[in-house]
Amino acid sequence: MLIVMKAHATEDEVKRVCQKIEGFGFRAHSIPGAQRTAIGITGNETELDPGTFDEMSGVQEVIRVSKPYKLVSRDVKEEDTIVRFPNSEATIGGEEVAVMAGPCAIESREQAFATAEHVARAGARFFRGGAYKPRTSPYSFQGLAIDGLKILADIRERFGLMIVTEAVDNESLELVEQYADMIQIGARNMQNFSLLKRAGRARKPVLLKRGMSATVEEFLMAAEYIMSEGNYNVVLCERGVRTFADHTRNTLDLSVVPAVQRLSHLPIIVDPSHGTGKRDKVHPMALAAVAAGASGLIVEVHPNPDRALSDGYQSMFPDQFRELADEARAIGELLRSRRSGAQLAPALV
Ligand code: PEP
Ligand code: MN
Repeated sequence: MLIVMKAHATEDEVKRVCQKIEGFGFRAHSIPGAQRTAIGITGNETELDPGTFDEMSGVQEVIRVSKPYKLVSRDVKEEDTIVRFPNSEATIGGEEVAVMAGPCAIESREQAFATAEHVARAGARFFRGGAYKPRTSPYSFQGLAIDGLKILADIRERFGLMIVTEAVDNESLELVEQYADMIQIGARNMQNFSLLKRAGRARKPVLLKRGMSATVEEFLMAAEYIMSEGNYNVVLCERGVRTFADHTRNTLDLSVVPAVQRLSHLPIIVDPSHGTGKRDKVHPMALAAVAAGASGLIVEVHPNPDRALSDGYQSMFPDQFRELADEARAIGELLRSRRSGAQLAPALV
């Protein structure tokens, strides 16, 4: 159930409604929007009587939400969510195309710093790199763990890049939350519900990757798990799904971008590296993702891909990445300026 407050409802009125919900033993999620505040109710396996709230002061209407996801839905919040980072200009879901880049895994201080220098020079605001790697084989490189997190924190210090890195279980999430700016939940963990709940109790934004065979509804329900615990800073990420096509590692499903945007206010970005698995396909698919309306990109870059300990064949050379970042920004700006009705330079028309 969703309680929509009147446009001019006071903070006190919102608070009284939340208190009433909590008095029943449920959880109230007050989500302010541009026009009005909506209050989502979770934790109610049994039905609540709408009449209980109808008559309260400041309440505009009480809506039964028929979709299984509530807090991620546009019913709760009509306008797009913009995720912000303290002490940084970086945003996801705002005006700018958010660009995240870095190696698949943090392999050494030298490798990570060399990559970060290129990433920062290309104008990206986020650095990615796994300290904990979910590998198909237990014999493959598993990541540097805490030592990798320390290198990442030093990279933030040196280059001012926001750090995005994966937590593979509740234990690593504890550490990732301390060291990183954004917690990545990988495709293989999209339905690890205890990890999702733990991420929902974290105080950092979460980057949630789509499971390899997840439907849009399953993807949104995974985000709902995080939000239902009180963390509203969730960014979705399309990274390709399993199909019969074998010319790429996965099939990058760009149509999920508008599909998600229709249903949810959460930003969605695209990972063309895991989405294609092949370096030469990363650039065109990244541009297509921005053209399709994605709020950002996450791309693997390595100073020496042939020697990478994981995912070298899909990692871009630094020069390739720089070109990609420039073109992606140009497409993002072109779309934004056309949509805001701004005058275009004649050469661009
Ligand atoms: C990654 O981003 O390094 C990764 C392992 O991605 P995914 O979970 O999408 O496979
Ligand atoms: Mn990878």
